[in-house]
Amino acid sequence: MTIDMPGSPSRFVVFSDVHGNLPALDTLLKEIDSCDYEACFCLGDVVGYGANPNQCCDRIVSRKIPTVMGNHDYVAVMLEDVEYFNEVARTAIKWTHERLVPEHVDFLKSLPHRIDRGDFTFVHASPFEPPRWHYVLTRSDARLNFDAFDKWICFVGHSHQAFVVELLGRELTCPDPEEIELDREKRYIVNVGSVGQPRDHNPDLCYVSVDLAENRLRFHRVAYPVHEAQRAIIQAGLPMELADRLGLGW
Ligand code: ZN
Repeated sequence: MTIDMPGSPSRFVVFSDVHGNLPALDTLLKEIDSCDYEACFCLGDVVGYGANPNQCCDRIVSRKIPTVMGNHDYVAVMLEDVEYFNEVARTAIKWTHERLVPEHVDFLKSLPHRIDRGDFTFVHASPFEPPRWHYVLTRSDARLNFDAFDKWICFVGHSHQAFVVELLGRELTCPDPEEIELDREKRYIVNVGSVGQPRDHNPDLCYVSVDLAENRLRFHRVAYPVHEAQRAIIQAGLPMELADRLGLGW
């Protein structure tokens, strides 16, 4: 299912992969509230791994943040395809499934696989077959995926690792995911990294902002109280590895 939203935002934020990490999500929301963005988009995996799935859904729902479905959201509510997860992820998803309140089960089930708004496409994993959750990791993945959307910029999450791929003609380049000067001659696939479980050896939460008045796309890294998220995981009886990895950013 694709939702086509009217209008094209010019100053907005995109984030992904909160994974039930409430201290990270609250830090992010506080930061973006102080910047008065015009819009905000969430690329899914609101739940799974972390100890606060219901509270994270509460935040997203109460702020009416447009959100696409992630593979953990899907599995947490449908309990299908659990066998594709490793043991730790499987334990966490079953724990999440047992705790999600009916209202948030309905919310997660209602999420579209893709949102198009103005010059932008938003998906969890890849614009090519979004419900199949393909990773976009290599140049050939990127090439295939540029043919799967026709907007200027496509935002993805899923790998928990920030990156940018630019396409100019048939030429692909991968600038550092820091600050990008946007160019209307180019097209982009942007992985916005992860709020709740970064996997690039940096534990700070990650998100992206776009400002078309300045033609800028920026990656932001923000420290949050990791120990609070770790304590919640341990108190919930979730696997210890899930607490440890937050401290390592992996
Ligand atoms: Zn994820």
